[in-house]
Amino acid sequence: MTDPQAFKVGPARVIRDSTTCSRRNFVKTSPAVAAVLVSGSAVSVSGAALPAPGSRPPRPQPPTVDGDRLNAMLADFRQFGGTPDNGTTRLAYSDDDLACREYAATVMERAGLEVSIDLAGNLIGRRPGTDPDALPIIVGSHIDTVPAGGSYDGHLGSAAAIEVALTLHERDIALRHPLEVIIFPNEEGGKTGSRALVGRVPPSDLEIVTASGFTIGDGTARIGGDPARIAEAQREPGSMAGFFELHIEQGAFLEADGIEIGVVEGIVGIRRWNITVRGMQNHAGTTPMPQRRDALVAAADLIRAVNEVANTMPGRQVATVGRIEAVPGAPNVVPGEVRATLEIRDLEMSKIALVFTEIERRARAVEEARGVTIALDHFYESLAAPTDPRFRDIVEASANALGYTNVRMPSGAGHDAQSMAELGPVGMIFVPSRDGISHSPDEYTAPEDNTRGANVLLHSVLALDGSG
Ligand SMILES: [Zn+2]
Repeated sequence: MTDPQAFKVGPARVIRDSTTCSRRNFVKTSPAVAAVLVSGSAVSVSGAALPAPGSRPPRPQPPTVDGDRLNAMLADFRQFGGTPDNGTTRLAYSDDDLACREYAATVMERAGLEVSIDLAGNLIGRRPGTDPDALPIIVGSHIDTVPAGGSYDGHLGSAAAIEVALTLHERDIALRHPLEVIIFPNEEGGKTGSRALVGRVPPSDLEIVTASGFTIGDGTARIGGDPARIAEAQREPGSMAGFFELHIEQGAFLEADGIEIGVVEGIVGIRRWNITVRGMQNHAGTTPMPQRRDALVAAADLIRAVNEVANTMPGRQVATVGRIEAVPGAPNVVPGEVRATLEIRDLEMSKIALVFTEIERRARAVEEARGVTIALDHFYESLAAPTDPRFRDIVEASANALGYTNVRMPSGAGHDAQSMAELGPVGMIFVPSRDGISHSPDEYTAPEDNTRGANVLLHSVLALDGSG
């Protein structure tokens, strides 16, 4: 515990973007937040430890974050929507979300950041660089959760981004580039904050009712944005030097291989199709087996084929039939029609196309063998967002310099980095998730892993800043 005096805070001073005209001060330190600030140890900014008199000066070490402070900040986040089972329910735009953003804003100020909220409700902390012409380096993530969610998804990247700023501040490290820490709102409900930065929140999205019960429009107003002017939050492509996001893996790949850091190659693309298998509906008691054109049996063949194709082609593509419905769906009727879905994901859209072509070929064989027709109708696409090759090298070199084992891997889940990739180069850092569990109160990443991830984030920022 540090001197409680160190935690006394007045109301946080929040500067609105010059493009905004709200009179309200959205970030005031409420009693609840003040209590967390006083009880927690997360936000103390101390000087670097001094060597004892007479001791040899330590060899200069590359700077590292304060892991205890980082993990305390994560624990403090749980004061806002934390549940007794170690999970968190902090729905975007809810009161807990507002309080946690307020807490984050206060810690950002401790880090010497100039705090503002843009028209989309992005909570932004800015630190000037020494070169007035240099574009900002952006770090950040989200602090909203799914209902009955975990306490690491998004939280880690947010806390680590603030911890990087705290470390630079207390060590008085000047960067050539400005640094921006951004907490993006409503990631879980559609990446509203980061999508607004790339002009991808159409007016119709503002009517969508989120898990908290507020529409995206009303929620945006609640957190200090302006839904009527959300389009003005858009930034120009090329307006940043780069973006780094630290995130938990949300899968079990790193843990299974005992690897500390994942160097993310990109966020996979997704394509989905509706499958319709048409056979012949008939009486289940009187139709002899050789005469049947059973749509569900044909669908079963196709589902096996989807699994085989994805499993046997080289690469890390995944293909899934996740939904199935037999029509008419009665115990005494040979199904005449089956509706199902097919989803394929890969880092390369061309690979998705290749996998689909092979599945289509197998579908034609099933049609032949079972006397059915199979239609595959495309209905959804999310483009792959590869990370920047130079940023992969930076993340990898940072992990190596810190002595952390690492591997290159894709991200099977979507992240704010996916939107940010439209503004400029992005890099992502993964740390292990216990048992690969996420979007659940059982989500867990060990404190040492959180610290390692934040150190790689810090070193990646320093490397990018030093690279021109
Ligand atoms: Zn997330």
